[in-house]
Amino acid sequence: MIIDNVIECDGALILGGGIAGLFTALKLAPMPVTVLSGARPGAAGSSAWAQGGIAAAMSPEDDWRAHAADTIAAGAGLCDPAIAELVAREAPARIADLLDYGAPFDRKSDGALALGLEAAHSRPRIVHVKGDRAGAEISAILAARAAAASSIRLLEGYHAVELAVTDGRVIGLFARTGSGAGTRLVLLRARAVILATGGLGALYAVTTNPLEARGEGLGMAARAGALIADAEFVQFHPTAMDIGRDPAPLATEALRGEGATLIDESGKRFLLAVHPDAELAPRDIVARAIHRRIASGHQVFLDCREAVGSAFAERFPTVFAACHAAGIDPATQPIPVAPAAHYHMGGIASDARCRSSLKGLWAVGECASTGLHGANRLASNSLLEGLVFGARAAQDVRGLLTSGCDRPLPPAPALAAPQPPPRLLREAMSRHAGLERDANGLTQLLDVVSRVEQAGNGDAALLNITATARLVAAAALARQESRGSHWRGDFPQTDAQGQRTVMTLAGANAIALPAQRHAL
Ligand SMILES: Cc1cc2nc3c(=O)[nH]c(=O)nc-3n(C[C@H](O)[C@H](O)[C@H](O)COP(=O)(O)OP(=O)(O)OC[C@H]3O[C@@H](n4cnc5c(N)ncnc54)[C@H](O)[C@@H]3O)c2cc1C
Repeated sequence: MIIDNVIECDGALILGGGIAGLFTALKLAPMPVTVLSGARPGAAGSSAWAQGGIAAAMSPEDDWRAHAADTIAAGAGLCDPAIAELVAREAPARIADLLDYGAPFDRKSDGALALGLEAAHSRPRIVHVKGDRAGAEISAILAARAAAASSIRLLEGYHAVELAVTDGRVIGLFARTGSGAGTRLVLLRARAVILATGGLGALYAVTTNPLEARGEGLGMAARAGALIADAEFVQFHPTAMDIGRDPAPLATEALRGEGATLIDESGKRFLLAVHPDAELAPRDIVARAIHRRIASGHQVFLDCREAVGSAFAERFPTVFAACHAAGIDPATQPIPVAPAAHYHMGGIASDARCRSSLKGLWAVGECASTGLHGANRLASNSLLEGLVFGARAAQDVRGLLTSGCDRPLPPAPALAAPQPPPRLLREAMSRHAGLERDANGLTQLLDVVSRVEQAGNGDAALLNITATARLVAAAALARQESRGSHWRGDFPQTDAQGQRTVMTLAGANAIALPAQRHAL
């Protein structure tokens, strides 16, 4: 395909209009920045859907060290302690930024911030907005500020398909705009490219993520040769509503923080026999217990009748609306739930300044992997991650943008008509790279990835998706132990020394091809 247009970005180019992309753009001001996204900034992506809130040690009874310790404990031995500490330490300042922007965090009658408790947090430290509307309200505030900022150019309706790399440096990206005969390929050129493309939940058949969360930014970076870290670690939310919708609406963890319980069809609280913290055990333990209960022929429900009861509609309006649409009154009826792909701990390997392994490329938010989450994310640490690293990326990029961008243009990518991830791939990801994995299933998944890739005739957008899926499967195959969100039925032990996975796409191919050949 030929390049129809070259857009010069004066300053930085951010791909993604979620909390990470928008916050980075605001923090870069007054430096000029272009924010590119598929849909309207602030409206698409997971950020607007976040229900629980943001974790930060904001009360006098709390301490950032306790927040860091809880983060490290949840990460099952794979967090980078220095990263967890810097995030916990900088969290209150980022909440203060949001308060300055006008975020209407819920308050107690004495005016202090109302802080909620969530699973695996040792203290109440989650700030909320209107109960379960933190993501929507904060995204709207950031989007409005970005739209009003003279330093920020917002471009929506662009589907990025490939990084533009010249002489080993990322100099921009290729994006498709328009549709059908009106499809145009555009090259956006910038001195710094910041990926803020979110997660990959929609590569799974059952997910809480919006359907554009397909790991495309990760795939683009991997295809350009970037290091990818911890790709095997995918967190499953224990309580997606099992009401036949794709994506599955979420019943926020805050409900369990309020005392809601998990029961089966006979009313039995089966988590009591699994972990001393029962419903407030770490997410992977709760999700796997529900998965096993369902796999053994039971139904599982979140029972909020006693803990929330008649206050439900007012306290959790988003969850209430989803229940109501499915004909369930959560004040009087238990909500049917099942685990769903929710958050990717892995991503583009990036350091404390958000630099990736490629020159000219930064990664922020869920698409990045800094070592904050290890093998399991602590609840409500991900919006925070977007804020903390958004500010850090802005600081780093601002200090670097001095030279012009006059390198030659790279060749244009191949494009076919846009397609959603094939159902075959999503089903295989859920079946083989879900809550329980083994070598046989992961090898079958790698085979499906190859077949889907071959059927795509080299389409760049599809190659991003298959690159991401292959990295998840290959990293899961290579990790011959069980840890955090990653459970191997054939390797149930946890090794004494845990190490993060760092891999290129070439490395994933080198794992995948022999495994597939061996299986033939
Ligand atoms: C239902 C739900 C509830 C959650 N609740 C919480 C919570 O309470 N607390 C918490 O901390 N976390 C929560 N999370 C996780 C959190 O919302 C995400 O991790 C976080 O919002 C990610 O922000 P982001 O800016 O990195 O990505 P996103 O908000 O997902 O934004 C990604 C952006 O990239 C764009 N994009 C992606 N690929 C392309 C492409 N190829 N071309 C053009 N544009 C592209 C998208 O359109 C979007 O604008 C929740 C997630 C979900 C799904």
